Amino acid sequence: MTRLKHEQLNAIKKKMGVEKLWSFSKVSTFDQCSWLYKLKYIDKIRVKGDNCYTYWGTIAHDLIQGYYQGKYKYDQMSDNLESKILEYQLIEDDSLKFPSESEWENYIANLRHYFSNVKPLPYAVSNEKPVLAVFQGKEKYVFQGYIDSEFIIEDGSLVILDYKTSSISGFSGAKLFEKSLQLIIYAMGINQHGRIIEKGGELQKFPLEKIKIRYDMMKYVNVSFIQKNGKEKVTKAERRYWVGKMANQIRKDLEGVGKEIEAIEKKVKSLEKKYNAKTRTEDEKIEIQAEIDKLQSEKEDLKRHDFDILEINEKIEEAIRSNDLSNMPDFVKDKYTVSDCYIDVDLTTEVVKEFEAKLISTLDKIIEKENEVDHDEAFERGRIDQGDSFYCNNLCDMKDHCKIYKEYKEHNAMFIEKDNAPNDDELLKMLGL
Ligand code: SF4
Repeated sequence: MTRLKHEQLNAIKKKMGVEKLWSFSKVSTFDQCSWLYKLKYIDKIRVKGDNCYTYWGTIAHDLIQGYYQGKYKYDQMSDNLESKILEYQLIEDDSLKFPSESEWENYIANLRHYFSNVKPLPYAVSNEKPVLAVFQGKEKYVFQGYIDSEFIIEDGSLVILDYKTSSISGFSGAKLFEKSLQLIIYAMGINQHGRIIEKGGELQKFPLEKIKIRYDMMKYVNVSFIQKNGKEKVTKAERRYWVGKMANQIRKDLEGVGKEIEAIEKKVKSLEKKYNAKTRTEDEKIEIQAEIDKLQSEKEDLKRHDFDILEINEKIEEAIRSNDLSNMPDFVKDKYTVSDCYIDVDLTTEVVKEFEAKLISTLDKIIEKENEVDHDEAFERGRIDQGDSFYCNNLCDMKDHCKIYKEYKEHNAMFIEKDNAPNDDELLKMLGL
């Protein structure tokens, strides 16, 4: 679906009786840094926005959404990704460079794995449909946004799916809800206004419990495996290195073969004793012999996979290199299942109400600051510290216009200079004294 036109947005504003529309990115910009909000939305400084993560995030979204739109077949996604990689490698733009070569290689290895292995969703998927959500605080706040993908699942629930190329950190526990504010806003919008599912179809209402929020964490897979106690365990791993992440477990599987053989031999010995007991009847002997034969055949089977430590090392190294288990015996292969990494957020009325209250309080705060005469003072923030330096250094597109960042760089440079300055002894040596 294409983005709404300027006139359509104006028509929404008129109908809703508001002067402006809000977006999630506006609120999250304020949450990230009040000064950044001022530069972007008050001073209206425009910069060429993309960094390496937003550039590749857009490509990844477009590729998967293009597939669901029927623009190309499944196998073509990988080819299209390769073309984008070639295109990217020809771009001479420092702002699109990854912080290091290894970060770029890892990032793209995860995407390559995703586009060759992702399991297509078995539903009718719609992309980039607009959504509106209305909140009442000091003013009436109307949010407008677009949903990456949405579809109806078997129980009639509507799933809002967001594609994420970022790290999984923060996508669990209490932080998960904070990360999900954008999708919670969209879920509330659908709950408020309903949704037309098919073109030309009727408007359908969805209670909150029939709206599901889901993230497709594109960089990751879920690896499920059977533990020794027979229980299944699921762990998340980066796609490019999932075998590496499971290497210790796989090693245990392979090393366990010797022990299993020993256990079988013990069992056979005790069965042989039973067999030779004087009181044993012929029928019992037949039964015991059958058991022994079964164990012997299991043992023969296992012996084929009883590798020594060097062979195990070699096998594991090869599996890590190819990032698959094709060189492993079937009993190892059968233990592991790799699937796409989705994270679901369960919405409840309490959670939604709590986030609505927080959102309205942030919006009220922004409005209060916007209404102040001195915007410099209203949106002022403290110094950049350890906690936000990564964002400022790598993700903030306004850093070249930011006085706080300038101060931070100057301050750091002073310390680097101090660190490099020779001490008294070195100075005397340098002067040949
Ligand atoms: S560089 Fe840091 S402090 Fe400056 S606007 Fe960006 S996020 Fe805010």
